[in-house]
Amino acid sequence: MAAQSDPRPAGWLRCFGVGEGWPSSDRRHSSYHYRLGSTRLLVDCGDGLSQGYQASGLGPEEVDHLWISHMHSDHVGGFSLFIQGLWLGRRRKPLHVHAPGGAIPALQAWLEATLLPAGLLGFPIEWHPIQPGVPVECRHATVTAFPTTHLDGLRRRFSAAHPAICFEAYSFLIESRSLRIGHTADIGHVRDLEPLLEKPLDLLVSELSHVAPPELFERLKPCAIGQIVWVHLSSRWWNDKAETRRSIQSALGTRRSRIANDGDLLPILVQREGKTRISRTHTD
Ligand SMILES: [Zn+2]
Repeated sequence: MAAQSDPRPAGWLRCFGVGEGWPSSDRRHSSYHYRLGSTRLLVDCGDGLSQGYQASGLGPEEVDHLWISHMHSDHVGGFSLFIQGLWLGRRRKPLHVHAPGGAIPALQAWLEATLLPAGLLGFPIEWHPIQPGVPVECRHATVTAFPTTHLDGLRRRFSAAHPAICFEAYSFLIESRSLRIGHTADIGHVRDLEPLLEKPLDLLVSELSHVAPPELFERLKPCAIGQIVWVHLSSRWWNDKAETRRSIQSALGTRRSRIANDGDLLPILVQREGKTRISRTHTD
């Protein structure tokens, strides 16, 4: 469903899947496409990505960089079919894949196990282990990954017995010439958001599963954030969206805020404090 068009958006966010970790009959899983000028970023590649990608009409060349936040299947389960689709679509230009470093051997082995060896693809995959806190130029945008505590509990329980498992998890700060965007992916604590909230944001794409919403709303209340898009809602919050909207509005007031659906195409406006360009407020 396309949102109403704003006059001059500085970028576009397409939500391929807004689901949480639980399988769902009405949501695909995490995958988000940012178009920022000529730069096209894909953040996560959860199960169902390929269906959403095909439905969007995007061609096989329309991702420059893929960033993978962590290795839960709702964020990476669509990886091999997505690559298979690029191969069948005759992609030719390189694809940059930024992933937790400890997971890259598994991702490479996964492509081989699913019969997608590098020599078959027809395009190179450039692998980049994520360096926490280091800005990475992605054409005309910059992406900085910050560690989150999302997998810390699992790490404590299983890292000794399973040293090959990668327990890294990241959120992302995405900056273009005119936009600053925070993308939480999955967090483990509200304090994980601090690096994203150091400066005003035009857009925050925030999960609503792993922290208590009142605590999260309280932290966001004083922040200069032009628009918040809520994704990855736990089923409790997803199944009663009217109540969720009331809670959000009561905590955060009338700022632009919406709960995203699969397939949404949302304009991103430059609207940080001091340079606000608000068009009509829309909430879904
Ligand atoms: Zn998740």
